[in-house]
Amino acid sequence: MKCPHCSKHVNIFSRKLNKFGSLQLCPKCDKPVKSYLNIKWAAILFIPAFIMLQVIKPLFLSTGLSDALATGLVCGLLVLFSMKLKVPNDVDNV
Ligand SMILES: [Zn+2]
Repeated sequence: MKCPHCSKHVNIFSRKLNKFGSLQLCPKCDKPVKSYLNIKWAAILFIPAFIMLQVIKPLFLSTGLSDALATGLVCGLLVLFSMKLKVPNDVDNV
């Protein structure tokens, strides 16, 4: 994800970003950011995710794993890649 302030790449798993309930801060510039699910990106990524699912499902089944696990994994990736950062609105109004 890219920070809306410094345009630097921010790791989605960054500890500063995952402080739920409190203000999320960019680990690079310490400015407040807000992560959100970009629906447009989710829609674009849905097709490759669906194709990927058709490919990995038989692989999961052949290794004795549940296909629900494959679906969960692909959905998780879809959400992960659709997450974007923006400047929190309440900060703009101050
Ligand atoms: Zn930043």
